[in-house]
Amino acid sequence: MSVKSEIERLRSVLPAGVKLLAVSKFHPVEALREAYDAGQRAFGESRPQELKTKHELLPDDIEWHMIGHLQTNKVKYIAPYVHLIESLDSVRLAEAIEREAVKCGRVIDCLLEIHVTCEESKSGWDYAELLAFVREGGFSAMPHIRLRGVMGMATFTDDEATVRGDFKRLKECFDELKGYFGEEFDTLSMGMSDDSPIAIECGTTEVRIGSTIFGAREY
Ligand SMILES: *Cc1c(COP(=O)(O)O)cnc(C)c1O
Repeated sequence: MSVKSEIERLRSVLPAGVKLLAVSKFHPVEALREAYDAGQRAFGESRPQELKTKHELLPDDIEWHMIGHLQTNKVKYIAPYVHLIESLDSVRLAEAIEREAVKCGRVIDCLLEIHVTCEESKSGWDYAELLAFVREGGFSAMPHIRLRGVMGMATFTDDEATVRGDFKRLKECFDELKGYFGEEFDTLSMGMSDDSPIAIECGTTEVRIGSTIFGAREY
């Protein structure tokens, strides 16, 4: 299967209202260009320097999404142009994004990455801590961050019930937080190559698909 035919196939099966993010991390610029030529405009990367390099080499109308863990000292590589930081996972990172956004004179859209699985390897907020920070108005001191929704991952397992439980939990978190942030809090990013059908059943608005489009990654 070519990149182009996979993108066309995915477009035909995704319900209206579910956005396709092409996760291009570790893939060469030529592969992204093939996706671009097939009409894809939203790309997800997990490393800030790689995102920056690809941004410089590819057309300006691409939306770059940061989906990997972001260190505070690396926000500067992406702050001037990033479309959405999906991996906002701590107060310290929020403060760093706020500072860099001020320097660029931008308001940066972000998703709150929430940790719902039992796996320690995954990053993201502990939901109780996040909710406490939201309730005390922590984000109101950060006017250059616009919170647009929630991002999360399900447990890495073949057990569909566990995956469905994780996505349902993310949807509950999203619905509760929307009560604090209002209508512009409109994005629930969940579902990857192997579990996107379940994420769609559970109400995702954005699936992040890498290997189905680009093949296996070479790390
Ligand atoms: C790599 C990655 C994906 C894409 O995973 P695939 O299984 O290749 O579709 C999605 N989301 C995040 C956060 C990732 O790091």
